[in-house]
Amino acid sequence: MSLAQTKVGFFGDFGGSFVPEQLQGVLDRLDEAFQTYKDDPDFRQELDHYLREFVGRPSPLYFAERLTDALGGAKIYLKREELNHTGSHKINNVMGQVLLAKRMGAKRIIAETGAGQHGVATATGCAMFGIDCVIYMGEEDTKRQALNVFRMELLGAKVVPVTTGTRTLKDAVDAALGDLMANYENTFYLLGSAVGPHPYPTIVRHFQSIIGREARTQLLEQEGRLPDLITACVGGGSNAIGLFSPFVQDETVKIVGVEPGGRGSARGEHAAPITYGGPGEIHGFKCYVMKDDDGAIQPTHSIAAGLDYPGVGPEHSYYKASGRADYVTVTDEEALNAFQVLSKAEGIIPALESAHAVAYAMKVAPQMDREQIVIVNLSGRGDKDVQQVFDLVQR
Ligand SMILES: *Cc1c(COP(=O)(O)O)cnc(C)c1O
Repeated sequence: MSLAQTKVGFFGDFGGSFVPEQLQGVLDRLDEAFQTYKDDPDFRQELDHYLREFVGRPSPLYFAERLTDALGGAKIYLKREELNHTGSHKINNVMGQVLLAKRMGAKRIIAETGAGQHGVATATGCAMFGIDCVIYMGEEDTKRQALNVFRMELLGAKVVPVTTGTRTLKDAVDAALGDLMANYENTFYLLGSAVGPHPYPTIVRHFQSIIGREARTQLLEQEGRLPDLITACVGGGSNAIGLFSPFVQDETVKIVGVEPGGRGSARGEHAAPITYGGPGEIHGFKCYVMKDDDGAIQPTHSIAAGLDYPGVGPEHSYYKASGRADYVTVTDEEALNAFQVLSKAEGIIPALESAHAVAYAMKVAPQMDREQIVIVNLSGRGDKDVQQVFDLVQR
């Protein structure tokens, strides 16, 4: 089985670019710039500099000793992406794409955001470089995440509430693509997850794969061997592909992505396209997607707003279809429990998104040997979720 891209922009039958001609030209220029700069020594040096001095990399690979003891099985290591500036892995990709935008001469950066995490990270990168920033956000989400809207405004970004469709992330992506088509001459679309038409999934994987490259080196230093299992939560799939991709060729490393199982398998109760959906198309690329029989995108639900997307990255879709990785679900309730368990056991309050991966590790580690090793990607910190969890556990 070859894990390389089968044809440019495709991962097996997934990915590609199904967009209007005008947009295709924009994507072609983006791909060309990415190919030019990704290995350019000046570009890499500048990116390394900001990742170290501004983001705070490398993030530690931390042995969660008390959680491990409590579970009585495999050793659990946490990749501490929650310690990055702005509190999650999103900034890794933002710094890479902002530098790319600068090289391409963009005067204006636009982005979409659901929960607001990617919007905040993008606004942060733009503030740091003094670039105009416009964030598209579903009107419904601007209400649910009012504080993140204010954060983005503090950082100098303009937040545009999107009032079409269900007024959520899916509609914000459409609005951002529309802006890009109208303003491509001076505008760069900074996409936040490993989704969208080619070359975005490849670009995002490239900038997020620092997670897995660091984790690999760090574990070899600390344990002298590779992990038995690596796991991460999957929304669009960027933190997961960032951890997974440097281990894909290591056949002894089991790879498991965790989808948000919400309240169950019924329509509208989850956001798990790999587990409950099927192959289809969304936002200009092919992937596992949650659609009704008439082709309409299904509503999604997750306790973790950042996992709430009806599609998933094409590379994950391919790993599922080819069997290289497994994808499982964790329910809202299990994630909420893991959120509290990790906080108490390790003094680390995880994002509700990341708590899905922690919950999965809590299920499987006790069935593994004490000599075995699990790496859990802690994609973000939970400060943003404390109010929500407070409201949930009060009842
Ligand atoms: C956005 C987000 C996610 C989900 O996005 P992916 O692209 O699937 O990584 C997960 N965790 C946190 C903390 C996030 O902010």
